[in-house]
Amino acid sequence: MCGIVGYVGQEQAAPILLDGLKRLEYRGYDSAGVAIYSEKYQKLQVEKAKGRLQVLSDMIRGGEDLDGMVGIGHTRWATHGAPSDVNAHPQVSRSGKIAVVHNGIIENYAELKAFLIEQGVPFTSQTDTEVVAQLIEYFYETDQVDILEAVGRVLRRIEGAYALGILCADKPDQLIAVRKDSPLILGYGKGCSFLASDVTAIIKYTREVGYMDDDELAVLTKDGIQCYNHLMQPIEKEISHVDWEIDAAEKGGYEHFMFKEIMEQPEALRRCIFPRIREGEVYFEDFGLTEEEIRHLKKIYIVACGSSYHVGVVGKYNLERLTRIPVEVALASEFRYMSPIVDERTLVVVISQSGETLDTMAALREAKRLGGRILSIVNVVGSSIARESDQVLYTWAGPEIAVATTKAYSTQMAVVDLLALYFARILGTVEESEYHAVLDEMLLLPGKMEAILSNKDDIQYFASQYFNHDSVFFIGRNVDYALGLEGSLKLKEISYIHSEAYASGELKHGTISLIEDGTLVVALGTYGKLFDKAMANVVEVRSRGADVLALTTENRREDMEKNANAVITIPETHDMLLPSLGVVPLQLFAYYVALMRGCDIDKPRNLAKSVTVE
Ligand code: GLU
Repeated sequence: MCGIVGYVGQEQAAPILLDGLKRLEYRGYDSAGVAIYSEKYQKLQVEKAKGRLQVLSDMIRGGEDLDGMVGIGHTRWATHGAPSDVNAHPQVSRSGKIAVVHNGIIENYAELKAFLIEQGVPFTSQTDTEVVAQLIEYFYETDQVDILEAVGRVLRRIEGAYALGILCADKPDQLIAVRKDSPLILGYGKGCSFLASDVTAIIKYTREVGYMDDDELAVLTKDGIQCYNHLMQPIEKEISHVDWEIDAAEKGGYEHFMFKEIMEQPEALRRCIFPRIREGEVYFEDFGLTEEEIRHLKKIYIVACGSSYHVGVVGKYNLERLTRIPVEVALASEFRYMSPIVDERTLVVVISQSGETLDTMAALREAKRLGGRILSIVNVVGSSIARESDQVLYTWAGPEIAVATTKAYSTQMAVVDLLALYFARILGTVEESEYHAVLDEMLLLPGKMEAILSNKDDIQYFASQYFNHDSVFFIGRNVDYALGLEGSLKLKEISYIHSEAYASGELKHGTISLIEDGTLVVALGTYGKLFDKAMANVVEVRSRGADVLALTTENRREDMEKNANAVITIPETHDMLLPSLGVVPLQLFAYYVALMRGCDIDKPRNLAKSVTVE
């Protein structure tokens, strides 16, 4: 998910690779490394280190220490195996002849690794990536085929998302590049060629680039680049001229990280969900609780802050509905001061994007002290919360840079939904048909999200209608209420508009007195079973003068239009998953409103990305 750079040419490669990696730093990472073919020693030299790029750069004196004019570099965002020197890329084959850098996840790495271990191949890292390096060498040596053929054989066997840069010491004049569902571009220089995750890394050296498509392979030499399709037939790659400036390129051409991350959600969901559904069943590798322990649970606590807490609120509806285990959602900052009832039959699910949130960490420790089982849902591999939990489920959302979370929220929610299904299946509390209906819909979520994102202009239009309101109310029932909490937080944190979320039924118990002519109410009516109630609330606030912007599903648009001033729709999906789709227009609405109000979207005032103070 992070950064790849490759260079083959007539200059010393290492400083160029370091420079490229430096420009990819904005993508976030936890370790870095390079592999260079050294003419002097006639072999690959691999240097890598956990931590900042500077650590690596100091180790090799800005690259000066490594001779050689061909190499690959990487910044890693760990998914498989904690951030460490050994797990950093490049990963090399047992003989040290083949080095691989990888962004993404090899979903079937476990079975391939088991096969290789059976063949006597020793592994040194915990990464999924090492399997690629070892498997290439396995075919290369055992079948005595050339390196391209060996790579081709590996590609036919690996599943998942990957951008790969490959260097083989026996072919020191070339690099091999492959991609599927992870970005990779080619750079055409004079007497040199480049490989990179995005143009930022190489824009200083060339502006002539080619965008690799899925299942394509490229061979780079200093004299040019040859691309092949999945059948290994040579193809012509169109070369585009980049006229962006570096700043824009860093954000993938988007103006803000938040927007980039909103747009990345379908991809993040694919990474998070797809490896966890196998042959129609939820699959968690090494799930820490045995079936017996799951049957023994009598309570689940979800403990988190901010948006992760809102995931917990949705999670409560979904977990209780499917598993019939009582679920309590607690704010982490409150949890340890409220004498929580936790024992060894309580599962405490802690949720944190960074895995460093101090309040959540403190709650985790308290829950542990009380004897609870800790399961964390975390984005950053190897973070403190991940390390201190009995079990971690990673969200694999990739680095999130904007302060206001988007893709971390969506992937956390997907993990909670998978967890609900997993437990319910074991407990026998879900009908077979419902279980499969939800799973099938989960696989369709990324595509449906893409459809919502392609209609973003509509939401921009609504934002232009409403951006100058001073106060907004989000109302909804059941999962729509939970969704409203997040929609409201998104809006207030980046646009500074006063905003509140209410369970619609609560309006008449007080809040409705605040509704007057022109008050903006965002009415959430995606939950079919309670649609009529949602409509009744729309009528109720409209008759007191509110302007109603409603969100519902496509098949209810017409009904909703009868009463609301404006209607946004999302595709149909299973009830449980409605907030996963519903949140996207609300994120976009908040984004466009903040944009129109001239706010500092990626760094809202007074807020920090990872809150490591109480
Ligand atoms: N899955 C690989 C790992 O954990 C690659 C991660 C990345 O994209 O940086 O090592």
